[in-house]
Amino acid sequence: MKPMIDLKKQYLEIKEEILYMLNEILESSQYILGKKVAELEDNIKNYHGIKEAIGVASCTDALHLSLRALGIGAGDEVITTPFTFFATVEAILYTGAKPIFVDIEPETYNIDASLIEKSITGKTRAILPVHIFGHSADMKSIINIAKKYNLKVIEDCAQSFGASLNNTKAGSFGNAACFSFYPSKNLGAYGDGGMVILNNTGIADEIRKLRNHGSRGGYRHECLGYNSRLDEIQAGILLVKFKRIDEYNRKRRKNASLYTRLLSNSVVCPVEKKDAYHVYHQYTIRSRRRDFIQQYLKEQGISSVIYYPIPLHLQEALKFLGYKEGDFPVAEQVSKEVLSLPIYPEIEERDIHLISEIINKCLQ
Ligand SMILES: *Cc1c(COP(=O)(O)O)cnc(C)c1O
Repeated sequence: MKPMIDLKKQYLEIKEEILYMLNEILESSQYILGKKVAELEDNIKNYHGIKEAIGVASCTDALHLSLRALGIGAGDEVITTPFTFFATVEAILYTGAKPIFVDIEPETYNIDASLIEKSITGKTRAILPVHIFGHSADMKSIINIAKKYNLKVIEDCAQSFGASLNNTKAGSFGNAACFSFYPSKNLGAYGDGGMVILNNTGIADEIRKLRNHGSRGGYRHECLGYNSRLDEIQAGILLVKFKRIDEYNRKRRKNASLYTRLLSNSVVCPVEKKDAYHVYHQYTIRSRRRDFIQQYLKEQGISSVIYYPIPLHLQEALKFLGYKEGDFPVAEQVSKEVLSLPIYPEIEERDIHLISEIINKCLQ
């Protein structure tokens, strides 16, 4: 079976550097909140031109702790997209706040900024856009709305490390931005990990406290916190991969453009808006015959995945929010038609040709 992503192939290319790094960390015997985490935080905040960065255990925690530190909790409403990974909404619910969904754009699958204003109520405190599949959401409009209504903006950058809009990096628009280092993400560790970046030092200190049992150190606990730290081993691995992230993203873009050249006559290919720099965490096509294509690919030994088959407002776990079928027609239609194809920096061009030929042939 041709896989969605081949992490072993990438590992073998950087194996020597990784093993050298692991040995250095293991011998240092400093495994939690040491030099490597601090160095990674510095690198990632500088990359984004942002003042503060805090390594945490996952993007789910990055979102949860950011929302909490920004003062969002019970009785508040947070506007977000129904077309994202479940964790986005879990983080909102962990704080006690209520997620309010807004439908998506049919081209980028990001939250449709033109629909946000009519969902704002007296309880709205924040907007949580997700840069889905690696294409930045319409941050210019979102920031304008947030300013007008005095709302916080928390960016979910789990899929968009290195993406940008008007030469401004995704993750540097809002009050805080949250990254995932889950192994298959564009910048992936060999375990779980996440990071928050932001410009406000007071809020950053609050997040540093929350990740470490509500303590700034010295066994003095100012509030209840969590155990949510990025560990040194993951940070070391990420330092090795961070050096290559722009190159990895360039390769993803090259692979995406080859797919688009080969597939654009038979399916709807991903769109890159003017001024956007898409980093193709996923290469997601759309077709009314999606299920047929997926079955055919499977018979030919090609993996593909449906991100996402059920929009969040129709998920069993979120029934209590009271949404029903028909509430978000674009997200519902898109969920029936999308299919993500294998895309990763190391995929062979001939595999892209092969996969595209199979799709074109089955639709003839
Ligand atoms: C992966 C992902 C998350 C969660 O990241 P973890 O690091 O696994 O907690 C959140 N939001 C989106 C959009 C994601 O793709």
